[in-house]
Amino acid sequence: MSFNFAKKRPLIVSGPCSAESKEQVEATCYALASTGKVDLFRAGIWKPRTQPGCFEGIGVKGLPWVQEIQKKTGIPVAVEVATAKHVEQAYQHDIRVMWVGARTTVSPFAVQELADAMRGKDISLLIKNPMNPDVALWDGAVKRFLAAGIPAEKIALVHRGFSYFGHTKYRNVPMWHILLHMKSLYPNMVTLCDSSHICGCREYLQEISQTAADLCLDGLFIESHISPDTALSDANQQLTPSDFETLIDSIIWRKENADNEEYNSIIELHRSEIDQIDAELLDLFHRRMQISEKIGREKKKNGVAILQSPRWEKIVSRSLYQAQKLGLSPDFMTKVLEAIHVESIEKQKKIMNE
Ligand code: PEP
Ligand code: MN
Repeated sequence: MSFNFAKKRPLIVSGPCSAESKEQVEATCYALASTGKVDLFRAGIWKPRTQPGCFEGIGVKGLPWVQEIQKKTGIPVAVEVATAKHVEQAYQHDIRVMWVGARTTVSPFAVQELADAMRGKDISLLIKNPMNPDVALWDGAVKRFLAAGIPAEKIALVHRGFSYFGHTKYRNVPMWHILLHMKSLYPNMVTLCDSSHICGCREYLQEISQTAADLCLDGLFIESHISPDTALSDANQQLTPSDFETLIDSIIWRKENADNEEYNSIIELHRSEIDQIDAELLDLFHRRMQISEKIGREKKKNGVAILQSPRWEKIVSRSLYQAQKLGLSPDFMTKVLEAIHVESIEKQKKIMNE
């Protein structure tokens, strides 16, 4: 039977990064099952490794192991699929929950091949975000599976972070606004956080998982292994079943709303204050752009270039100084100032070209 994601919150998926041996799968999954906190198992059978020569998955040999686990525990197993053949082989072994990895979601050819292979089958699907923060690519993958007849309640969106050039504290940087954008396109689709692949280590799993819960995601996708340090893939980020249980117990799941009159009236009041301030901000932006345009006209009349760097640097340093005194983060303020500057330049460019 496929799995109806929408029925439970929080929805917890856990299991090893890779199925390595029958014993490892059994020991991990039975220990996880005994916590009573797992709704779905995960186990990679085919592993998309960036570098050749790494452990690339046990392959079909592992399918009977997970098939048996599923039968004995009654907990469905999800496996990653990247080709039509994977879909067929997993399906033949009673696997009805599959996931599309980040390296596959980026490829419309691969996604279409999977969608065609799933057409007419009873499959639930977890679609991970693509490697790069591109909403259209993620959305495109969802559309291809919906068009192949997988119903929305059998699709879950998994935020696993985005690859990034340069050093960051995460293996894949979380970009919550991309996930929230997808949530606005598919408000009823279940959203999960793959904290393991975001973090790449055990250290930040709690913090990232709690952020996901705070942002009202519906559940977690966590890698667990009976002996994480000896795992053949992603050893640094996997948890023992007992650490997994501690993590899950530590997460506070917040509700979308509260049924409480006092809360509702306070929120209502603050929301009307915010609406008023937003209206004032819009008016201020409008007035600022009008003045930019006036300056642009004067520059044009006098043959002066759009950009005078010293003037802009002065605005930035003055604003950042004020922002600091007001407790506004320099990062936020820099983004706002840059957006204003880009728009001002656009306005003046238009005037120069008139
Ligand atoms: C995985 O879940 O094991 C995996 C390969 O993940 P991702 O596609 O997010 O890298
Ligand atoms: Mn992994």
